[in-house]
Amino acid sequence: MAPPSSLGAVSAPGVIRGLGPGGRPGLVDYRLARRNLIDGFRKGRVARNDVCDAHPELIRAATNIGDPIDGEPCPICEEVDLVHVRYVFGPRLPKHGRCVADQAEMAKLAARAGDVTCYVVEVCRSCHWNHLARSHELTSVASKPTRRRR
Ligand SMILES: [Zn+2]
Repeated sequence: MAPPSSLGAVSAPGVIRGLGPGGRPGLVDYRLARRNLIDGFRKGRVARNDVCDAHPELIRAATNIGDPIDGEPCPICEEVDLVHVRYVFGPRLPKHGRCVADQAEMAKLAARAGDVTCYVVEVCRSCHWNHLARSHELTSVASKPTRRRR
């Protein structure tokens, strides 16, 4: 995956490992890809520089708005707990996705959204390990009022 020549201010394709160009997940299952990568690192097949290469924007997002995960230490350095950073992609959102600051913003997006996908990226603020952790659709719960006719 070649990094794009210009990176957006907040997020961009190429920033998220495991996410293909255009903000779509690659064909490879990223949980499997993650395990293979960690495995490769532990067996000495993958250099630390190649796995601990989080984009500065991603580190900044992790530091400022990341969601610390208690009890899940970094698989590479095992020094600190991982942090989750959320990005959303969908209609009326920036092409390169948007970094979501908190649950309130996420709820707002979920309420208005039709077809929004959220990507959760795990980041280590110590060694800069990063990988796509999971993705899920944001379903709009508030947009459909339950109306009953009698
Ligand atoms: Zn680490």
